Amino acid sequence: MINNLSVTFLGTGTSQGIPIIGSTHPVCLSDNPKDKRLRVSVLLSWKEFNYVIDCGPDFRQQMLRHNVKHLDGILYTHEHSDHTAGLDDIRPFFFRQGNIPIYAHKRVVKSLIKRFDYIFEEKNRYPGAPSVDINFVENNEPFLIGNEIVTPINVLHNKLQVFGYRVGDFTYLTDVKSIDPIELEKIKGSKVIVVNALRIEPHISHFNLDEALAFIKEVNPEKAYFTHISHLLGFHDEVEKMLPNNVHLAYDNLTITI
Ligand SMILES: [Zn+2]
Repeated sequence: MINNLSVTFLGTGTSQGIPIIGSTHPVCLSDNPKDKRLRVSVLLSWKEFNYVIDCGPDFRQQMLRHNVKHLDGILYTHEHSDHTAGLDDIRPFFFRQGNIPIYAHKRVVKSLIKRFDYIFEEKNRYPGAPSVDINFVENNEPFLIGNEIVTPINVLHNKLQVFGYRVGDFTYLTDVKSIDPIELEKIKGSKVIVVNALRIEPHISHFNLDEALAFIKEVNPEKAYFTHISHLLGFHDEVEKMLPNNVHLAYDNLTITI
């Protein structure tokens, strides 16, 4: 069982981030650093290992901000741009370490090959292009990262399959709208759960605040953190006050230890 897993929230915002470019919404204009949210990702660190879940358009800034010097791999939840667009910026890691392992559903790998063809090119490679080692993730097939077991959890983002991941007592879920009861069993017993809570109003492909709270009530972890947050959820400090004692809004640069 993993001890001292450190989880750093690299980004806690929805697809456009907060502030949204050009927006005059009060949350986008807030001076509170907790209201500034990069695209969603977490850094998992223990012993000498560093893994990220997702690699969105803010990946470079996130790696610089947290002074990450080596990266052991990227676990992908799904192929949407806010979770994948930063892949080219693994170059500094690739130059020092060689191929960077990626872990993803085969559909997601296919999408990455289409978007980043030069990274996956085998002949006539462009000098300076990074390269990855592909690890296909399949549901009901736990896999190892740095000698720790990861359990993939199948969830639905409207109709799109998305993977959540459980490592020891920590479960990370994003872009969830529904979960099959069989998958819910894999989450139970987690001490800490991170899950998406987009906004107050319902949304076709994300939990809103009420759905996220109902989910947490059902799974009943010691602690829960909400992520993938839209400016429409409101000011961090105001929403935080409304939540039950064991539930918090995540914010960028928060680190928790499990
Ligand atoms: Zn997303």
